[in-house]
Amino acid sequence: MECKIVTIPGDGIGPEIVREACKVLDQAGRVYGHTFSYQEILMGGCSIDAHGVPLTQEALQTAKEADAVLLGAVGGNVGNSRWYDVAPDLRPEAGLLAIRKGLNLFANMRPAYLYRELADACPLKKEIIGDGFDMVIMRELTGGLYFGERRTREVDGQLQAVDTLTYSEHEIRRIAVKAFDIAAKRRCKVTSVDKANVLDSSRLWRKVVEQVAEEYPQVTLEHMLVDNCAMQLVMNPGQFDVILTENMFGDILSDEASMITGSIGMLSSASMNETKFGLYEPSHGSAPDIAGKDVANPIATILSAAMMLRYSFDLDREAEAIEAAVQQVLTEGYRTVDIMAEGCIQVGTARMGDLIAEHIKTPGGEYDEK
Ligand code: NAD
Repeated sequence: MECKIVTIPGDGIGPEIVREACKVLDQAGRVYGHTFSYQEILMGGCSIDAHGVPLTQEALQTAKEADAVLLGAVGGNVGNSRWYDVAPDLRPEAGLLAIRKGLNLFANMRPAYLYRELADACPLKKEIIGDGFDMVIMRELTGGLYFGERRTREVDGQLQAVDTLTYSEHEIRRIAVKAFDIAAKRRCKVTSVDKANVLDSSRLWRKVVEQVAEEYPQVTLEHMLVDNCAMQLVMNPGQFDVILTENMFGDILSDEASMITGSIGMLSSASMNETKFGLYEPSHGSAPDIAGKDVANPIATILSAAMMLRYSFDLDREAEAIEAAVQQVLTEGYRTVDIMAEGCIQVGTARMGDLIAEHIKTPGGEYDEK
C-alpha cells in the first residue's frame, strides 16, 4: 500500500517527536511492505515567522490532498514568546482551529490506556485501577456550546452573558456513527454521555444515538449522565470502552481520563472527518521548556501514527505491531525522563524512537534484523 502523509512538525518539541514517529512508520512500512511518503508543511509559530500567518491557504490545500496528516504540536512559551502578544487569529494555536475547520474534523478521538509498567504514575488507588483500563473518548468537535451564538449585553443595569448550545440530528448522527465504528473494532461497548435530565440538546442526542445503535447489533449501548460519568471515571474506569459525547462534556471528560493515565507524553489523539481522513497528534502541547534537548517523550506521537494506520489506512495488524513494540520497550525498562522510575534505563527522544522501531515484529512474530 502507498500512503501520502502530510507532516506538520510545528514548534517546540514538535519536529523531534514527528521525526521519531516517521522513523517508526518507515520501519513498519519496510517490515509489512508499505510505502509512506511525506510532505512537510508549516503551521503555528514557524509559519508566522515564515509567512506572517499560522497557516497559509497553500499549506491547508496540501493537507487536504493528503491521505492523512501527522501533527507534532504548535505554540511557544505561554505568556513569554514572540507569538503571544498578537491578535488571536494570528497566534500559533489559530492554525489548529483553522486546520480543524478547513478539514472538517468533527470527531475527536482520545484513547486513555494505563500501561501496567506506568501504573505507579496513576493517581488512583490500586484497588480502583484493578486490571487497568483501556478506553477511547469520542468527542464531537465542531458543534455545541463552543460554536453557538454568544453575546454579552446589559439588562437592567447588569451585564448578562448568553451562550447557546445547538446540535442538529446530522451532527449527532455522524459522530455517533464514528463511535460505533470504533467500538465495533474494539470491545463493542458505547457509553453515550449526556445531560438528558435537563437539556433538550441531550434528549435529541439520546434519540439519535439510539437510532444509530440499531445499525450495530453487535455493539452494546448504555447512556450515562455527565456528572455520573465524571465520578465513574475515577471510581471504576475499567468499565468503559468507547465514551461518546458532545463538545464541552468531551473537553472536560477527556482531560479527566488523560489525567488518570498519569503520563501526558503517552497520550495519542485523532481528529477525523466523514471519510477515513484524519489528523493525528499527541494530546500534549509543544513543551517549549524541553525543546531541542532530546528529552521529549515521542511515544504519544508514535501511538498517534499507529492510530493513523488503523483508522485512516485500515492497517490494523501494522498498528498493533507498533503498539506491541511500545509495550515491549516499556517492559524491557526503557523510559524517557518524564516516565522514569527507579531501576529503569533512561533514554532520549531519538533512542526511544530507535528502540520502538527495532521492536516492530514481522508478521511471523520475529524481529526484523536488518
Ligand atoms: P505542554 O503539554 O506543552 O507541556 C506541559 C508540561 O508537560 C511541560 O512541563 C512539558 O515539558 C511536559 N511535556 C509535554 N509533552 C511532553 C513530552 N512529549 N515529553 C515530556 N514532557 C512533556 O503544555 P503547555 O506548557 O501548557 O503549552 C505549551 C505550548 O503548547 C503552548 O503554546 C500551548 O498553547 C501549546 N499547545 C499546543 C497544543 C497542540 O499543538 N495541539 C496542545 C496544547 C498546548
